[in-house]
Amino acid sequence: MSKNFRLLILPGDGIGPEVMIEVDKVISIISSMFDVQFDIEKDDIGGSAYDRYGVPLADETLEKAKSSHAVLLGAVGGEKWDNLDFSLKPEQGLLKIRKELDLFANLRPALCFESMVEASSLKPHLVSGLDIMIVRELTGGVYFGKPRGIETKSDGSRVGINTQVYATHEIRRVARIAFELAQKRDNRVVSCEKSNVMESGILWREEVQYVHDNEFNDVSLSHMYADNCAMQLVRNPKQFDVIVTDNLFGDILSDEASMLTGSLGMLPSASLGEIDQNNFRKALYEPVHGSAPDIAGQGIANPIASILSFAMCLKYSFNMDKASDLISTAVNKVLENGFKTKDLLGDENKNLTTQEMGDEIVKQISDLGADNGS
Ligand code: NAD
Repeated sequence: MSKNFRLLILPGDGIGPEVMIEVDKVISIISSMFDVQFDIEKDDIGGSAYDRYGVPLADETLEKAKSSHAVLLGAVGGEKWDNLDFSLKPEQGLLKIRKELDLFANLRPALCFESMVEASSLKPHLVSGLDIMIVRELTGGVYFGKPRGIETKSDGSRVGINTQVYATHEIRRVARIAFELAQKRDNRVVSCEKSNVMESGILWREEVQYVHDNEFNDVSLSHMYADNCAMQLVRNPKQFDVIVTDNLFGDILSDEASMLTGSLGMLPSASLGEIDQNNFRKALYEPVHGSAPDIAGQGIANPIASILSFAMCLKYSFNMDKASDLISTAVNKVLENGFKTKDLLGDENKNLTTQEMGDEIVKQISDLGADNGS
């Protein structure tokens, strides 16, 4: 019996809808090549949701997200909505869906395609073959801790306050995700914090070690101060397999790692939550980039980050590793053949439009699938 998965697609604003059209094509070819059916619903988020519902994420959209097996998102934001009240801004839709689905683990792969080695800011030998997974805690830490705010003191001076707070269960659940991922990769985890100067860092280190010793002692675990990790990422990035870290350090380290691999238009991400009563982990997949208002509507956006986000969805939500790898291989082949979108600084004459890039990837998937007898 063929598998059946419910997917909610939220294209969003700017280039979001443009790149998600190309994802649609990839979904179609994958379902025709593998024994799987995707029941797809579409809805709005961000500015487009504000225009339709008066809010950046409608309750009915959230309900659809909660009952889907996975959510694919484009991007949100744009000048048109810049002057809205803070609570109605497009980005609030994104924060709300992450919070309501309790997506506590953000996975950002830093994978350097061979064809993109020259586009890295580091020397080719440092990034050739690079394949790191950064797991960032997403719903706790200093971005959410209380007390917070800006206070005016009696002498008229002001203080800005944010609080780093982590509870045991928040650390343990994200550590488990990191160890599980490592088991499917090179079986190595580096946990990053600042236990030399922060109590929350001491707790982080102890709890990650606890989960390791009690549940994953087959995985190799080491600890590193976050500032050292930032340095090691540019000195010798290939030493890492999986990095797990908190919200603040993860924000910075994942951006740093992503730049080792070339363009923003290439970077996928996944945000994972708890496993629900139907044995599905809540999950949202989206490109790292935003809505790119500067190029929206021109047909030149790179759809690869969104297509690779769907590849992550196949792997982490649907256990379809073969289909997922097929997409990644097809993307690499297309790039190897010299086809690039404008952001990848390819040969001017070979620059593909968004649609042409999508079509080229679909064609490669089809050709590779035929070779492998899929
Ligand atoms: P951005 O990622 O949208 O764009 C940064 C630069 O990268 C731009 O020059 C853009 O043209 C380019 N770029 C981004 N994606 C590309 C792609 N797929 N192909 C080719 N070029 C690409 O970031 P920004 O300019 O800081 O923000 C624009 C809007 O997006 C803002 O409203 C911001 O709030 C929002 N935003 C949303 C998300 C999200 O939806 N997850 C993330 C970041 C920013």
